[in-house]
Amino acid sequence: MAQKFASLQNIHFLLYDVFKVQSLNEIPYFEEHSRETFDLVTQTALRISSETLHPHLSEMDKNPPCYQNSEVLVHPMVRAFMKESGAGGWISANAPFDSGGQQLPFCITTSCYFLFAAANYSASVYPLLTSGAAHLIESFGSDFLKETFIPGMYSGEWQGTMALTEPQAGSSLADITTRAVPIDSQTYRIKGQKVFISAGEHNGVDNIVHLLLARIENAPAGTKGISLFVVPKRRHDSRGDLVSNDVLCSGVYHKLGYKGAPITHLIFGDNDDCIGYLVGEPNKGLSYMFQMMNEARLEVGTGAAAIASAAYYASLEYSRQRAQGRHVSCKAPSTAPVQIIEHADVKRMLLFQKAIVEGSLSLILQCSVYHDRLRSESHDDKKKAGLLLDLLTPIAKTFPSEMGILSVSAGLQILGGYGYCDEFPLEQLYRDVRIHPIHEGTTGIQGIDLLGRKVLGENGAAMMAFMGEVGIAINKASSYSELKPYSDRMKLALEKLGVVTMKLASIAGKGQPEQFLADATLYLELFGLVAISWQWLLQGIAACEALSSSGQEPDSIFCQSKIHTMKYFFHYETGKIDHLSERLLEDNDITVNVPGDLFI
Ligand SMILES: Cc1cc2nc3c(=O)[nH]c(=O)nc-3n(C[C@H](O)[C@H](O)[C@H](O)COP(=O)(O)OP(=O)(O)OC[C@H]3O[C@@H](n4cnc5c(N)ncnc54)[C@H](O)[C@@H]3O)c2cc1C
Repeated sequence: MAQKFASLQNIHFLLYDVFKVQSLNEIPYFEEHSRETFDLVTQTALRISSETLHPHLSEMDKNPPCYQNSEVLVHPMVRAFMKESGAGGWISANAPFDSGGQQLPFCITTSCYFLFAAANYSASVYPLLTSGAAHLIESFGSDFLKETFIPGMYSGEWQGTMALTEPQAGSSLADITTRAVPIDSQTYRIKGQKVFISAGEHNGVDNIVHLLLARIENAPAGTKGISLFVVPKRRHDSRGDLVSNDVLCSGVYHKLGYKGAPITHLIFGDNDDCIGYLVGEPNKGLSYMFQMMNEARLEVGTGAAAIASAAYYASLEYSRQRAQGRHVSCKAPSTAPVQIIEHADVKRMLLFQKAIVEGSLSLILQCSVYHDRLRSESHDDKKKAGLLLDLLTPIAKTFPSEMGILSVSAGLQILGGYGYCDEFPLEQLYRDVRIHPIHEGTTGIQGIDLLGRKVLGENGAAMMAFMGEVGIAINKASSYSELKPYSDRMKLALEKLGVVTMKLASIAGKGQPEQFLADATLYLELFGLVAISWQWLLQGIAACEALSSSGQEPDSIFCQSKIHTMKYFFHYETGKIDHLSERLLEDNDITVNVPGDLFI
């Protein structure tokens, strides 16, 4: 039997029982859809994941992209999967009907992407990047850009990328130096270098379309002088033929994991013949790019949770097969060894994995539903969804990324020595999952974004909206006797978050920015634990509702498993908030003022 890597039952529980997304069709943009179409789409995604993606997981890891004469040769499945993604409408799934899309809700495509990434993370990235890049052109590009580039991208024949990072400008995009010299108001000559560009060059497509940040000559310094360009690898000449656009790939990086996708070093305009087409207005590039970056941050969280999901099912299967040791209460050597799933410590690790995977996916789908609610016709609904999506995006990126590593590590531990060896998938999954706290803004940068911008912005409006949402869950949960102790714990956790936030706001108010942001990463961790506790409470409520409903017979083992995992999370993970709060409320600057020469 093929290895299980994700649970469609869990996805459907989250979509329909927790988030009730069947009612999204009340929003006119989604009115053509129903639970039937959502079921069909997610079932098809599972089939593609099992049949097309998962069989190549290990093979793509063992045969990474190969750099040859400025070209990057990738696994043949990449071309086939890009074509399938184009023909099946996966790349354009969220786009409007009139531009060839299917107007599917983001929560549905995110669920599908979760399945793709759980089956084969590297492969899943190619169409997803293309979709994000095309979406950017769709939102801000001229008709010329839309007509010239989007059809090739939606069909899967052309790859899309995001080209931001430069050797001297990683976290700090304010420092990019790639130059754009105007030829006319829409066309520029591009010159510069970009590093680490995912899928920036490969032979699985016929062309590559870079969404690139550059600085127009004499633009203001810093982020206010950054513009966005479409820079194709091949551009159309006057006869409409595709010719080289002076974009050179000078090499690929050799990475720890996620080896099936090439990460490239690109040189633009070495022969002064690289043309870039301006997107939108000059100097507004970073604000446009934030659309793609915010979506990509949710996708990174999704990828991390997905890899952790594959690890969970692999270690669960192993723990049911591997016989080792005996119960502490029955050590007689004459008795048969038990399956390791019988040991409390192994059950603890499995519960940890399950709680991280399903809690993370829940938060990601919560954010995806907020994303869909941006299409609501009600101004208030839209405003609230926007505030919450903005606030929770750094958490939905970081919690799965950081905790996903620990979760896969626990899975590897369950396999003992075999977990460390490449005959079992854990060894690869452990390497694959490590990228997520790094790309799309490191954890440190997400912490600064959350505390420095999101939490206190608009006089704390987003934070108030978050408190309101969690408050609703607390009230609901308290009406179920089984959940009451957990709604009480949730209330305490939320209060702690409020106290810590006020304290940090007072430091910001005193004009001490270094002290204010010194432990932003810890604040992010604390907020992550509160947010995931909330998501587990929501899942507990949905499971209790299903068990007590007089309608369709519920899957009672599934619901009990949900409630039990919720209890695990509150008893083993939520309590970590106490230590983090204690640290964040302390008045000392152990890190800020430690002199560099004390590091010996
Ligand atoms: C596999 C992979 C794929 C990638 N794909 C793409 C892609 O498709 N497109 C693209 O444009 N880029 C891509 N990147 C680049 C990625 O986004 C950057 O690596 C990342 O933003 C960090 O930049 P850096 O590597 O220069 O690290 P640095 O910015 O040098 O950061 C190093 C360390 O310092 C910390 N740090 C930096 N500044 C601060 C600060 N102000 N306050 C506190 N701490 C700070 C960081 O948190 C980090 O821990 C990819 C990278 C990898 C490894």
